[in-house]
Amino acid sequence: MAGAKHNGYRNAVTRRIHFVSLGCAKNRVDTEIMLGVSDASGFEVVADPADAEIIVVNTCGFIGPAKEESVDTILEMAHYKDAGACERLVVSGCLAQRYVGQLAGEMPEVDHFLGSSDMLRLREILDDRGERLMVGNPADYTIRATDPRRLTQRAHSAYVKIAEGCNRTCSFCAIPGIRGKQRSRPVDDVVREVEGLVARGVVEANLVSQDTIAYGRDLDDRPTLAELVAALARIDGLRWLRLHYLYPETLSAELVDVFRTHDNVLSYVDMPLQHASDAMLRSMRRGHGGRRIYDVIERLRGALPDMVFRTTFIVGHPGETDADFDELCDLVRWAEFDHVGVFLYSHEEDTHSGTMRDLVDGDVARARQRKLMTLQRTIARKRSNALVGRELEVLVDGPSEESDILLDGRWWGQAPEVDGKIILANGTARPGEIRRAVVTQAADYDLVADLLTPEGVRDVPVE
Ligand code: SF4
Repeated sequence: MAGAKHNGYRNAVTRRIHFVSLGCAKNRVDTEIMLGVSDASGFEVVADPADAEIIVVNTCGFIGPAKEESVDTILEMAHYKDAGACERLVVSGCLAQRYVGQLAGEMPEVDHFLGSSDMLRLREILDDRGERLMVGNPADYTIRATDPRRLTQRAHSAYVKIAEGCNRTCSFCAIPGIRGKQRSRPVDDVVREVEGLVARGVVEANLVSQDTIAYGRDLDDRPTLAELVAALARIDGLRWLRLHYLYPETLSAELVDVFRTHDNVLSYVDMPLQHASDAMLRSMRRGHGGRRIYDVIERLRGALPDMVFRTTFIVGHPGETDADFDELCDLVRWAEFDHVGVFLYSHEEDTHSGTMRDLVDGDVARARQRKLMTLQRTIARKRSNALVGRELEVLVDGPSEESDILLDGRWWGQAPEVDGKIILANGTARPGEIRRAVVTQAADYDLVADLLTPEGVRDVPVE
């Protein structure tokens, strides 16, 4: 149904709200909390911004391209104040937190600014309390199990934020300044949230934070990540538990034990490495050299032989020479990672790298990004081909985007949204089921497989 201003009709009872969620998985969780707040306040969430009286843009303000996308989206949504039903435009998230002073002056069309920790304050806006809200202090809030939340990904898969903020001082990164110091959630609160999610049908939980390996170090009772993961692994009905954003430290023997002991803790390691050369790691203030990276990977592979490894790198950081970049390529060739993201360095104010002068030419940086991605594509192809003929455990996500007669799924080595998918070409299954399937074909990142019945035979072909 069209909205109030452009058809002259207004439903006196139900008010409508539209959300745009930009940025990372952590931001998505924040959006899901605001959706929960909207539901609890009796708002109807609508897909078309033209129909909404309130529009919320949850922004990312981490690096240049993300900031541009956020600003473009705000301007696009502001247009619905004239062309749609929009009465109030709300900008939330990292961009608002970081640049509220500037944005408030330059964007009078924005009615309220909520920071990266102000999700619950959306209530005040929905209650129509009038005055323009500005961002709060990021240290004031950490997500709690009792916060309302509506899942947007799939009914059977959720991100779970185990901490906010970050205590590291990586020179290129503006996050600690935006999101504040690390605040871990107590173990029992995370357990309570995941129990609630499982009761609602979630079978896959993906733990996220800025620095997951440092979980608990800021709490008085100093729970370890291993204790948290073990407690979560014991939740009945939680089939897959995956850890994201582990800083390159040697995993404790206790954590390796948890990986080995609990079948539902996936041997999937997501460890952003950023670079490999000593000079670059020093300049990035990562607190370790290249040798540490080789050691950590070797130890992990020794402890978890079937491990799937995802990482990300930054190319074009100030001072990066051809020799530094060659060292990065050497690491990628040696390690044969399963999944790699390659980001272009973004020169950010309020960061130590942002004060550096020895910038790398943009064309050179882009060429390095292309070269590294091409190198990784060859490796990914080889690793995908090695899966052909193997029987894997696959989570069925639902009808395929390619065709109605196919299903989309992911094997446990594929995290949602970032690692590709498995197209299930034969058989039937419900979204959220975990089934076995035999891989029949491989592309660079996606796979094709035949579902097996629970008895282990190939399923009936779909007509
Ligand atoms: S670990 Fe480093 S890169 Fe990651 S959020 Fe913290 S400061 Fe930023």
